[in-house]
Amino acid sequence: MENNRKRPKKKKKIVKRAVIVIGIPVLIIIIAFSAMLTILASFMPSAAVSMVDDYKKAAELAGCTWQELVVYDTVRFHNDLEDVNPYLSAVDFMKMYYEIYKYVETEDGGYWTLVSSGTLITPESIWRWLRIPKDSDINAVLEAAGKYARPEFVVQFSPKELDDLIIEKKFTEEQIEWVDMLMTSGALDEMFGDVHDLPDYIDSAGTGYFGWPAPALHNITSKFAVARKHPVFGITRAHNGVDISGPGAMGSPVCAIDDGVVISVNLNGGERGINVRVQHNIGDDVWVSRYQHLSAAKATVGQKVTKGTVIGAVGNSGIGTGPHLHLELTYNGVLIDPLPLIK
Ligand SMILES: [Zn+2]
Repeated sequence: MENNRKRPKKKKKIVKRAVIVIGIPVLIIIIAFSAMLTILASFMPSAAVSMVDDYKKAAELAGCTWQELVVYDTVRFHNDLEDVNPYLSAVDFMKMYYEIYKYVETEDGGYWTLVSSGTLITPESIWRWLRIPKDSDINAVLEAAGKYARPEFVVQFSPKELDDLIIEKKFTEEQIEWVDMLMTSGALDEMFGDVHDLPDYIDSAGTGYFGWPAPALHNITSKFAVARKHPVFGITRAHNGVDISGPGAMGSPVCAIDDGVVISVNLNGGERGINVRVQHNIGDDVWVSRYQHLSAAKATVGQKVTKGTVIGAVGNSGIGTGPHLHLELTYNGVLIDPLPLIK
């Protein structure tokens, strides 16, 4: 009898111990994992992919990048993007420059003379100048500006830098950190980018990524931005590549991003400065990488290189704002953003 009574007690104890030994760690893991997901989710934009398409269209009209526009709204509206209109937000990115001319008649004809000019940097001033309702979106702004296509007016738009805009909007330190986190993490491109539409961005070694062109440098100082022909007056701001810099940039090595053949070495490339181009044939696709603003080229035309071969040194030649590498990448002749493809 005694034994029979003890046995169930012992069993209970073992079960209890098993629950503690296995259950608690599992519970801790589950809690930690869901907390991590919650934290991550709260930082990431809640925009649906279909909404990002609108952001892409709106950004193209404003001349900024869609990433900048998504990040601006994500942080500004604390990730609550459901009722946000990207076409309205895009107006915040616009600067408008105008000139007004007057025709002066003279005996032998006449001439146009400048009466006034100015730059408008707030949406309110742009709406007021164009005499359109407050909260008109970017389509309405451009349409209204189109009506000024007359000899007595010049109206041009250019995009603001995101860095300037967040200062203008008095973002807090935490908000600025959030902006930086989103802009540098690459997560936006992973989530919403066109990267995956490229048929074969696999490098020759089959790793799926090209190599990082400046192994000593890790700061992205300027991103790729597509040239935008303005529908009315044709002002554009394009950045055809990605700028990479960092401490000790000057003279640090520049490496071929993949196996290929050097197709040009230009020691006097004007704005581009000293620059080298490498062609990479991958399958039926032709990729060309171009490395600009070098302080020295360490390659010759026709030279075969492999991924990581040093082909030059980072510099400040041509037009630049300090030593950095400007990397351009074309895919079958089309300029594309190299950043999502290099690692
Ligand atoms: Zn550049």
